[in-house]
Amino acid sequence: VPYLTAPHVVLLASTSFEYATRFFDFLTDYDPDFTNYYNEDVAMSNQTSSDLLPKVAGQLCYLSFGPNRTHDKDTARYLTNIKSQAHGSVLEHASATFLCYGISRSLTHELVRHRHASYSQVSQRYVAKPRFVERPEFQTDEFLHNSFILHIEAAQANYNTLLVQLEVTHAEQHPDPNLPRTERLKAVRQAARSALPNCTEAPIIVTANMRAWRHFLEQRASSYAEIEIRRLAIAIYDHLKQIAPVIFDDYELTPEPPFGPLDWTLTTPYRKV
Ligand SMILES: Cc1cc2nc3c(=O)[nH]c(=O)nc-3n(C[C@H](O)[C@H](O)[C@H](O)COP(=O)(O)OP(=O)(O)OC[C@H]3O[C@@H](n4cnc5c(N)ncnc54)[C@H](O)[C@@H]3O)c2cc1C
Repeated sequence: VPYLTAPHVVLLASTSFEYATRFFDFLTDYDPDFTNYYNEDVAMSNQTSSDLLPKVAGQLCYLSFGPNRTHDKDTARYLTNIKSQAHGSVLEHASATFLCYGISRSLTHELVRHRHASYSQVSQRYVAKPRFVERPEFQTDEFLHNSFILHIEAAQANYNTLLVQLEVTHAEQHPDPNLPRTERLKAVRQAARSALPNCTEAPIIVTANMRAWRHFLEQRASSYAEIEIRRLAIAIYDHLKQIAPVIFDDYELTPEPPFGPLDWTLTTPYRKV
């Protein structure tokens, strides 16, 4: 019976800001005095798209593209000010999409409570090849590990038996030969899945903006969070700090038992910006 022992997080997409081309067109068209902005900031910028787009969105509010603006090299100062004043709406312009797998159905039940993200998850009504996830606590203890293996083998066997029996009963109750095979399978799998445990793997694609990701990290990479989702949150944070190093530069990492590579918590002076 296949099972996984750690969350896998794949960065599928993130914001790409057409800074040097499209935004420059707007600046020169709007006010020729803004032309220097290109020479001094845009052309020389080494900030990431996900850090710069929120900064520029904030600047647009006051059309601050003249000589007294905060230059791009001072993006950290600019965004720290945004965070400290809880003006986090500008962070919503940048987003990131992750494929997460090696995570359990109980984890994703917690994940999807975050209402500002968008989700696409493997359907247990259409897909009948379950894999399972071993909890961290079970991996280091022989008794718990053996118990987990027995549990998923029994769950898999029970699930397979139900698939067979449900197909028989469904055919008896719906003898129509024109019923599409996919409809029959869906009816069978939606009933059989009730035998699948919370530790069934539940791959999911999640898209959220940076403000929503921050809130997720503050709740789920905390010492109060459940250990499996905390490890997922840290794996996501590892990507986010590459995509948007300035937006996430205020988080402090603290080691958390049981001290595996993903066992950290995050704290920040700027919660819920
Ligand atoms: C340690 C921990 C334990 C938990 N235990 C439980 C539990 O026992 N039972 C349980 O049911 N849940 C539990 N949860 C889930 C928790 O209640 C939230 O559903 C989840 O953390 C999502 O956070 P959020 O509500 O802040 O909203 P998100 O959906 O992440 O939204 C972010 C913010 O947007 C605003 N917002 C979003 N939607 C609305 C709205 N409709 N109206 C007004 N403002 C809105 C709020 O300010 C909210 O904080 C737990 C969470 C954690 C971290």
